[in-house]
Amino acid sequence: MKEKLFDNIVEENLARIEERIQNACVQAGRKREDVTLVGVSKTFDADRVNLAIRSGVNILGENRVQEILQKKPHLEMDNVQMHLIGHLQTNKVKSIVGQVDMIQSVDSVKVARVIDTCSKNLGITTKILMEVNIGKETNKYGVELEQLEDVILQVSNLSNVEICGLMCVPPICEKKEDVRKFFCKMNEVFLDIANKKLDNVSMKVLSMGMSSDFEEAIKEGSTMVRIGTALFGDRTYPVIK
Ligand SMILES: *Cc1c(COP(=O)(O)O)cnc(C)c1O
Repeated sequence: MKEKLFDNIVEENLARIEERIQNACVQAGRKREDVTLVGVSKTFDADRVNLAIRSGVNILGENRVQEILQKKPHLEMDNVQMHLIGHLQTNKVKSIVGQVDMIQSVDSVKVARVIDTCSKNLGITTKILMEVNIGKETNKYGVELEQLEDVILQVSNLSNVEICGLMCVPPICEKKEDVRKFFCKMNEVFLDIANKKLDNVSMKVLSMGMSSDFEEAIKEGSTMVRIGTALFGDRTYPVIK
C-alpha cells in the first residue's frame, strides 16, 4: 500500500515537473527536447528509485560514490544513465570510473587527471562536465570563472576524458531575479567557450537548475535540470553515506 502511494506521488510529481519544463521552454522559445531531466535520487532507497524509473525517469543523479555503488546493483538500470553530481575526492575516483555515465562535478585538473588515468586502465573514455563556482562561494566546490578556460585547456589534453559542458549550483537566492543573474552568466560563459571551438571540448550540456529554480535556469539556457525534492519529495537527512 505504502509503495503504491509513493508510486502515484512520484508519477504525479513527474507529470507536474514535465508540464513546468514544457511551459518554461515555451516561454523561452526553446524546444522541449533541448532540456534533459535528471532525477536526483540521493537518500532515496532503490525500491523508490525504481518506481521513478518505471514512471519514465531515465537519468539519475547521485552525489556520493558510496551510495551509488551500494544502490546501483538494486536499480533497474536498463536504458537508464547514472550521473555523479557531487564532489569527487581523488581517492574515490578509481571506484566510480566505469560505474557512471557522466561525472558532472569535476572541479580541478588534478581530479580530471586521475579520472583520465583510471579511464585509460579500463579502456574507456569518461564524459565529464566542469563544475563552476559561479557565486564565488568559499564553502562551495567548483572552478573559479577566472581559471575556467585555463583549466578546460589543460583537461582537454587528457585523452580518456571528454569535456561535454558545464555544471553549477548557484548561491541560494531569495528572489528569482537574483538566481537568474547567475544562470545568465553561466550561459554567457558556456557560449563563449563553445565559440572558441577548442579541440576535444564540446559544449553541449549546460547543467543548471534544481527544484526551486529550474524554470529560471531553462529561461537562461539550461540544457539539463537536476531535480530531487520536486520529484521524490523531501529528503530525510542525514544523507546515506
Ligand atoms: C541534491 C542536488 C540537486 C537536487 O536538489 P533539489 O533541490 O532536491 O532538486 C541538484 N544538484 C546537486 C548537485 C545536488 O546535490
